[in-house]
Amino acid sequence: MGKTISQVLVHKYLGVWFDSKGTWGCHVRYLMKKCQQRVNFLRTITGQWWGAHPGDLIRLYQTTILSVIEYGCFCFRSAANTHLIKLERIQYRCLRIALGCMQSTHTMSLEVLAGVLPLKNRFWSLSSRILIKCEVLNRPVIENFERLIELHSQTRFMTLYFNHMSQNINPSSNIPNRVDLSNTSDSTVFFDTSMIEETRGIPDHLRVQQIPKIFSNKYRNINCDNMYYTDGSLLDGSTGFGIFNNNLTVSHKLDNPASVYVAELAAIQYTLGIIEKMPTDHYFIFTDSLSSIEALRSMKDVKHSPYFLGKIREHLSALSEKSTQITLAWVPSHCSIPGNEKADSLAKVGATNGDIYERPIAFNEFFALVRQNTIISWQNAWTRGELGRWLHSIIPKVSTNPWFKGLDVGRDFICVMSRLMSNHYRFDALLRRVGLGESGICACGEGYHDIEHVVWSCPVHRDARSKLIASLQAEGRQPAVPVRDVLASRDLSYMSLIYVFLKSIHAPV
Ligand SMILES: [Zn+2]
Repeated sequence: MGKTISQVLVHKYLGVWFDSKGTWGCHVRYLMKKCQQRVNFLRTITGQWWGAHPGDLIRLYQTTILSVIEYGCFCFRSAANTHLIKLERIQYRCLRIALGCMQSTHTMSLEVLAGVLPLKNRFWSLSSRILIKCEVLNRPVIENFERLIELHSQTRFMTLYFNHMSQNINPSSNIPNRVDLSNTSDSTVFFDTSMIEETRGIPDHLRVQQIPKIFSNKYRNINCDNMYYTDGSLLDGSTGFGIFNNNLTVSHKLDNPASVYVAELAAIQYTLGIIEKMPTDHYFIFTDSLSSIEALRSMKDVKHSPYFLGKIREHLSALSEKSTQITLAWVPSHCSIPGNEKADSLAKVGATNGDIYERPIAFNEFFALVRQNTIISWQNAWTRGELGRWLHSIIPKVSTNPWFKGLDVGRDFICVMSRLMSNHYRFDALLRRVGLGESGICACGEGYHDIEHVVWSCPVHRDARSKLIASLQAEGRQPAVPVRDVLASRDLSYMSLIYVFLKSIHAPV
């Protein structure tokens, strides 16, 4: 009280440097300095061809560097490009280290190869999520934006909010944050996931024959009228759920955004509502959604649970009072269990033609929309871009997974293939393209020194090539498939043979 607040040009508040002109230059410099050491660390645990696995390095970048860069981006996301590019360069540098790519590699290609969102899309996505959350949990933020609109503010900072308004996002604030099952007696609900064990190891082609038999044998003593099958479905962007029982069928659509998971919970909730009106007995609900069963089993402490988890709890307490018992059982989907198949069709009917089943939508359900829009905007930039077209012909679709996800391959293999995919490797034709080499003509004089020439036609490598062709033929494979097509198909055994060939001729990839 009575203290004079001194005027300063820059001030750090909650870890973000604010400057008097709002350029964010100070904060960007602070981030660059803070990240420098961490980037150096990535480099010390990696050489071009040796060192940590690219997948681990990408994760290390995301957890130790990206998390620092993106903190507080809600404030500085609208900084001038001259500042933001400095942060983007940190990301490029790290991905280049992770993938072992060349300095000349097109920057968006690095992000597509690594499955890492461009920084601007990442900032946009995080900031949109914050706005959505504020709709429910921090109204003053929204009110301030509204006030800025009244003042006709049209700055870059406002674009996010204008976009937010156009999305019609109206989460409900009446959803309990925590679901507590402790007042439901343990003898009311049973969770039965025994079908997982009982169907494990059945080969794919026998599942449709064997699983229905196991199922009907296992539940043969249960009155069919007490068996309810539920399912959720997502078709062409519409979500619905279906319920099948001997005496009734239900099909409904859910307002977007709705995930299949929410639809599965909606179906279970709806079924419990039906059972509540039935005489006291033991009822069985069959679902193919393991995540729903797991959520319900552990729902003593679920944060930001979807609305239906709360409703399910209410039903279960009511059923507990009248001593009705419920077994929630998991069944494998698409295995010709008749009830499950019928529920599946009903869910599809619901998704396409069903009446809307009204529900309040939790704010975090809208996050799926943000994720979807972020990917679309990244995809559009990748599709319309002018650079990196070679890689675009190999990986036309962006993803938040690296291209090698699920492949059991080492660092050297990933680095060689990443370079071939990005079309930036140490061959003459490439070196000439980036202004480093002389003619770009192979030493044999018969063609450009690029990957296709070296692998399939250069006379210098005739001996090594005959080995490659012999190995391909031994595997019953077609020789002379363009390297680009091999890369695009992500055909690991074919890629491995080309890799072995390149190693055998000591190609300077
Ligand atoms: Zn040649």
